[in-house]
Amino acid sequence: MDEMRYQLDLLTAINQRLGDQEKQYRLVCESSVNAYLYFSFETNEFKCMGNWNSFFDFEIRQIKDISLFYDIVEEKDTHVLRNNLFLEKRGIKQETIECHIPEKNAWYQFCTKIIYDDNKEPLDKIISISDVSKYKKQTEELMKMAYFDMSTGLYNRNYFVMILGEFLRKAEEENVTVSVLFIDIDDFKRINDGMGIVVGEGLLQSFAFFLKEFEEEKVIVSHFTSDLFCIAIYDPCGARSVEHICQAIKEKVLQGIISPDGQKLLVTACIGVAEYPEASNNALGLINCAEIVMFKAKASGKNVIKYFDTPIVNEFMKNVEIENKLKNAVFEKEFIMYFQPQFSVETGKLRGAEALIRWYDEEEKFISPGVFIPIAERNGMIVPIGQWVIEESIRNFAEWKKQFDCHIILSINISAIQYKQPEFVNDLIKTMQKYDIPAEELELEVTESILIEDFEEVVRKLNILRDHGIKISLDDFGTGYSSLSYLKEMPIDTLKVDKSFVDTIITDSSTKIITGAIIQMVKKLGYETIAEGVEEQGQYEYLKSIGCDIIQGYFFGKPMPSEKIAQLLREQL
Ligand code: C2E
Ligand code: CA
Ligand code: CA
Repeated sequence: MDEMRYQLDLLTAINQRLGDQEKQYRLVCESSVNAYLYFSFETNEFKCMGNWNSFFDFEIRQIKDISLFYDIVEEKDTHVLRNNLFLEKRGIKQETIECHIPEKNAWYQFCTKIIYDDNKEPLDKIISISDVSKYKKQTEELMKMAYFDMSTGLYNRNYFVMILGEFLRKAEEENVTVSVLFIDIDDFKRINDGMGIVVGEGLLQSFAFFLKEFEEEKVIVSHFTSDLFCIAIYDPCGARSVEHICQAIKEKVLQGIISPDGQKLLVTACIGVAEYPEASNNALGLINCAEIVMFKAKASGKNVIKYFDTPIVNEFMKNVEIENKLKNAVFEKEFIMYFQPQFSVETGKLRGAEALIRWYDEEEKFISPGVFIPIAERNGMIVPIGQWVIEESIRNFAEWKKQFDCHIILSINISAIQYKQPEFVNDLIKTMQKYDIPAEELELEVTESILIEDFEEVVRKLNILRDHGIKISLDDFGTGYSSLSYLKEMPIDTLKVDKSFVDTIITDSSTKIITGAIIQMVKKLGYETIAEGVEEQGQYEYLKSIGCDIIQGYFFGKPMPSEKIAQLLREQL
């Protein structure tokens, strides 16, 4: 009897304790800010607990109710959520995921946990749901701070690349296009240098403020660096079409941009446009293509909009490759000087030779100077290359003189950038003296482009060279600005009529008349005339008939190695 009583007391005590514990758990559970969903594998029963009602306006009572969850999350998240809710199917004990709840503009975290018995059979499942919107927003804000550009308030490059990546992922799913506009303000450096960085900064801020107007869910505007801006447009159409935005930018800049201090600045901008999927299928590739196209737009002037096309990018890539090769080119090994003979029309004798550089890269592949010289001019490599050309061609010329005691003329092509070097004139004269070459036998070929930037300074230098006795020849005449009024002011001795005139001199009657008139006039001004690119007998005969002095071209001799010129000289002895 005592024994039974004892057992009963014990059971009552245990029950009381269990009841107390359950009460405590319920209290904890009910006062929790989280919602809980309990599931028993034994009874297949669900129980919604905790702060359930503030999270959901439905209850889960049986397995089919689970689908109610899928209705409140974004469609793309349903798969992940299902995996999480049925964790046991993947043999995982615990997992946490986060889902966006569009209707509430909130983020819910689902943490599912399975409890197993000793035989590894699942017993209970508890899904705890918490609202992590605040934390999510904070991290988002922090991310944004890291992704903002302080000077303009626009997104910076990193953020832009990230969002563009998201645009592209979505565009693939939805089968739409994404456009990237790469914008560069024309002459920004000149404004910055000329009017001061305060004005420059102000201009950038106002321009950024203007571009920001285009921003919306599907349009993101970013400031990369300095005067470079980028816009990405998801599924461009209507008010967010590329044409519309480009046109608006054009109009805006033409009206003038008012800087924060009230100054009205008239600027223009060049825009390069590249589109997914045509140009590239990744964010960096797309930006890169738009940038390349923008460079191309810049090269063709101000206020230009250019659209991606494959040849532009291929050409650019090829140029980059050449530029890299050029940096590693070993002058003595890869470059060689060729010389193209020039003949006097009157005597038929060798008048001189034009030095033309030849480049066979490390794989012995020929790269035309027409391709690499412009690249070298842009990146400054033309200075060391030009120095090498001067030294090497004068050295060859000196050898001919030693061998044949001849008095012909050596023509060397000189780029505008070379003239800008302060030591250019001195270095040239030193090289001339080193090889004991008379100045009268040296001719420098220049193009009109050297006059564009600093006419007076260039004319001053040309005059110094001429005072030494060096001849100056105006190359490619007829292709550039070619105003005859220039000619009178330019200190030149020789004028080279461009190949494009010679090409059609027989076939096109107006070219015939123009060339005739030019040569007559130039002769009156006292210059010598050279026709270049003469390929046919007929061209030569016509040029002779209109009084051209010197002829150069494949018809009389292609550019050739030094020894071949030596042979010509030997034949003339
Ligand atoms: P350029 O100064 O106008 O040189 C004449 C170009 O026409 C040369 O091309 C020459 O080979 C080519 N040519 C001459 N006669 C004929 C002809 O009858 N028919 C045809 N189809 N072509 C002819 P190249 O050597 O390819 O040079 C291209 C350009 O590269 C030159 O044009 C010049 O601007 C530049 N360049 C070449 N060598 C040098 C150099 O040493 N220094 C600098 N700064 N530029 C150079
Ligand atoms: Ca030339
Ligand atoms: Ca030429």
